[in-house]
Amino acid sequence: MVEHNFLHVFLNTILAKREYVNMKNKMKKTITILPGDGIGKEVTQWGAAVLQTIGQVFDHEFTFQEAAIGHHAIEQYNNPLPDETIKACQEADAILLGAVGHPIYDNNPSLKVRPEQGLLKLRKTLGLYTNLRPIYIFDELQAASSLKAEVLKDVDILFFRELTSGIYFGAPRERSADRERAIDTLVYTKMEVERIARKAFKAAETRRGILHSIDKANVLESSRLWRETVQEVSKDFPKVKLNHMYVDNAAMQLIRDPRQFDVILTGNMFGDILTDEASQIVGSLGMLPSASVGDQVGLYEPIHGSAPDIAGKNIANPLATILSVALMLDIAFDLKKESQTVFDAVNTVLKNGFRTYDIADATTSENQILGTNEMGEQVIALIKETTAVPI
Ligand code: NAD
Repeated sequence: MVEHNFLHVFLNTILAKREYVNMKNKMKKTITILPGDGIGKEVTQWGAAVLQTIGQVFDHEFTFQEAAIGHHAIEQYNNPLPDETIKACQEADAILLGAVGHPIYDNNPSLKVRPEQGLLKLRKTLGLYTNLRPIYIFDELQAASSLKAEVLKDVDILFFRELTSGIYFGAPRERSADRERAIDTLVYTKMEVERIARKAFKAAETRRGILHSIDKANVLESSRLWRETVQEVSKDFPKVKLNHMYVDNAAMQLIRDPRQFDVILTGNMFGDILTDEASQIVGSLGMLPSASVGDQVGLYEPIHGSAPDIAGKNIANPLATILSVALMLDIAFDLKKESQTVFDAVNTVLKNGFRTYDIADATTSENQILGTNEMGEQVIALIKETTAVPI
């Protein structure tokens, strides 16, 4: 059994409210599934199937309700986040999201209602200000990375990306009447930086005790506030070694020597870009899960988008979504054993040599390359196999 650092290291300490759960108790939970667009439906289907299997084998009652978001919701309701969806999310114990986005909006500024607005509004409405993105390398996938094996060994990074403020939310955001000037606004308040910084420091305390705060304080006033605030918070965590790093340097260091990082704390846009870059350490966007938490219900989603180039072809990698379910079981429901079971099943499938095309390499044989559905089936079969009661 692999000890999966990305699940066990931070969870006890960062969540504001936790419910004590007796492992023997049957748990009843409602999960709202937001498939969204493109490959979203294909991958969330397997996330839900894994949850259902975990419910069956560990005797929990998981109830699912599906709601619309993104382009799919615009088509149905002319609204990327209908009120019914918000309600279904607020009433749930956890949310599983696929992805939003559709190519018809690319290069078409006349379309004012856009899929991404739905996700941004959902994050804001639910106060999901902390986005956790573990960068964990499965041994078997080292060949799928574009980096050398010696650079990759033992990489284990936990990103804390601020999710409900910064340049993606600041106002004004507008275009001049002659359309020749555009403005976006980058705003952070001390409170917004402090609350996520505390969570990141607490996590670092339980890991290797190193925190890199990424900013652009040599240029941006909002970054100077970020840095000052992080420095203030650090006084309460004397065991954690704080390093400040400019974002341009961080982008380079992540590829040069990713092992130097333990916890990375950063703002919304810098975190968006750096975590996509970090996905190449792991080998594919299709392997990276995430959890977005605040003080209410949490949202669990793969970090990839709707991947219109591969949608509907049964080739999307469902493992990022399945690993997001592992995060959900641990963070939202405190079901450590169940979460570990999902993680172990993914690990074993990879050990058995199975790959979706995005993580296949020269050593993968034709019959080991699986489609989305076949990969989902493999994970479920392994969960059943490893949890079966011996006769
Ligand atoms: P993307 O993540 O959708 O795809 C980038 C590349 O990675 C593509 O080549 C894609 O085929 C591949 N890829 C992504 N997920 C994969 C998986 N599970 N298995 C195998 N390959 C996978 O990013 P993009 O192309 O920049 O964006 C496409 C759309 O998704 C856009 O509309 C964008 O706005 C949206 N988007 C949404 C989210 C989200 O919902 N959280 C995040 C990022 C992008």
